[in-house]
Amino acid sequence: MAAYQLTQQKLVDMALEIDKGFLLALQLGRLKDAGQLQPHQISVGKLNNTREAIAIAREARAMFGGNGITLEHSPLRHANNLESVRTYEGTDDVHTLILGNAITGIAAFR
Ligand SMILES: Cc1cc2nc3c(=O)[nH]c(=O)nc-3n(C[C@H](O)[C@H](O)[C@H](O)COP(=O)(O)OP(=O)(O)OC[C@H]3O[C@@H](n4cnc5c(N)ncnc54)[C@H](O)[C@@H]3O)c2cc1C
Repeated sequence: MAAYQLTQQKLVDMALEIDKGFLLALQLGRLKDAGQLQPHQISVGKLNNTREAIAIAREARAMFGGNGITLEHSPLRHANNLESVRTYEGTDDVHTLILGNAITGIAAFR
């Protein structure tokens, strides 16, 4: 599979997002260690990294075709786990509202 051009493009896209997510987490950790991390920046990291992780798991699932639907291969097992992570680390909706508040200064929630 890895010898196909389109497969390599998918792997490259996945690697780019994994690297960006890693660098984001690293920088947020550095800010936290320095006592400079703002609460909404945590939402940036959690929203982006869990969203990209599940997108990568789904793309990896698609690369296995019909077999990828089964739990025979790991991507959907990761995707299942990530669905719960997206809830217990804060849902996309709530992180979005926190970031909307940070950008506009207007809280759309109580
Ligand atoms: C596996 C797992 C482990 C967990 N572990 C812990 C733990 O250790 N400690 C802990 O405290 N909690 C834990 N939780 C609970 C988790 O933090 C909550 O599930 C989470 O905060 C969401 O709350 P909720 O399920 O009540 O959903 P709700 O708050 O009822 O949300 C339901 C939906 O409404 C949306 N929503 C909520 N508020 C708004 C709003 N103002 N505007 C628009 N949309 C909104 C949400 O995004 C979501 O889509 C865990 C959950 C899971 C699944």
